[in-house]
Amino acid sequence: MSLFSTVEQAPPDPILGVTEKYLADKRPAKVNLGVGVYQDASGRLPLMRCVEIAEQRLAEDPKPRGYLPIDGLASYTADVRELVFGADSPLISQGRVVTVQALGGTGGLKLGADFLRQVDAAATVLISDPSWENHRALFTRAGFSVSSYRYYDPARRGIDFDGMLADLTAAQPGTIVVLHACCHNPTGYDLNREQWAQVLDVVEARNLVPFLDLAYQGFSVGLADDAWVVRTFASRLGNLFCASSFSKNFGLYGERVGAVSVLCRDADEAARVRSQLKIVVRTNFSNPPTHGAQLVATVLADPTLREIWTSELTGMRERIKSMRTSLASQLAQAGVPEMGYVAEQVGMFSYSGLTRDQMLRLREEFGVYGTDAGRICVAALNENNVGYVASSIASVVR
Ligand code: PLP
Repeated sequence: MSLFSTVEQAPPDPILGVTEKYLADKRPAKVNLGVGVYQDASGRLPLMRCVEIAEQRLAEDPKPRGYLPIDGLASYTADVRELVFGADSPLISQGRVVTVQALGGTGGLKLGADFLRQVDAAATVLISDPSWENHRALFTRAGFSVSSYRYYDPARRGIDFDGMLADLTAAQPGTIVVLHACCHNPTGYDLNREQWAQVLDVVEARNLVPFLDLAYQGFSVGLADDAWVVRTFASRLGNLFCASSFSKNFGLYGERVGAVSVLCRDADEAARVRSQLKIVVRTNFSNPPTHGAQLVATVLADPTLREIWTSELTGMRERIKSMRTSLASQLAQAGVPEMGYVAEQVGMFSYSGLTRDQMLRLREEFGVYGTDAGRICVAALNENNVGYVASSIASVVR
């Protein structure tokens, strides 16, 4: 009898499972719209020029690899704080924001979740319905009971804002509410600013704890605009959490560069919160890795490199937008004008509105891979595959 004889086979990761099937597909026209990774016009994951230059600079001046401080590289966490809260934010000068380096945005969510569990073990976590696959699992593993608030209405093909507000209004004080600060994954539908203001009113009135997930800063409108929700919430609330990530906007997926920032009521509270977050880090991975954080800090410290970064990021954002427009117009030409909404959605993903059966047909008959729930990664479209994707979709919806 082995220790593991009763261990059950876990289900495969729904997104990575799609990639495995894609890789096994021998058809040359196949397209992977499953995983959330930006690809350039030639269909490749780019190494950003700013990162390449920073990499060369670091290589020219090699340094020993000692341990970083438990809460991360100080120049990096200062950069994160400024990008998220704004360089001139009084909250930063008042010492109210604690930022701790984390293993990607996922790691930022997990550090925040573990700390919150210590603060209020009985709190419920609310995530959007639907949400990024990992939100539910991550907060459940951290020990919370996780429910959802209404978000997407398939019939209306948009946000069920009344439902969302009603669910938040009904939440108990202290409930942790996970909100996508921009580029909602998986739907591609974001609230407008008026709606956010109403959400903020409810969060404040009901004493909810917002946990803002900022995984796509720079992919909707721009770096500052995409942090507007975090900054607006922070300007009115005493406490909030924000998990942020450079996976997408620096193309540093595998380096695991992210952070969690916690807004505190004052500097004294911030010092206490930092000390507890450091214990969470210490008991999980001791201290964070150096390389990705150094790359980001090198780019952001140099005005020329920073300029290259922002213009590359603008290029990525614009390319995604043009692919959305192109997909919508090619769908219309192929006889599916009703899918014009793909051009209105934002970020790397679109909820295509296709059924599970249609998504399976897309995969089996055409080698076009999205998730079963109908999410497609529009950041993986390019001039060479968008026509094929449009005609394939047209074939399965007709
Ligand atoms: N949050 C959301 C909404 C995401 O879509 C993702 C990545 O897909 C993450 C967090 C995690 O990003 P990272 O790769 O930085 O851990």
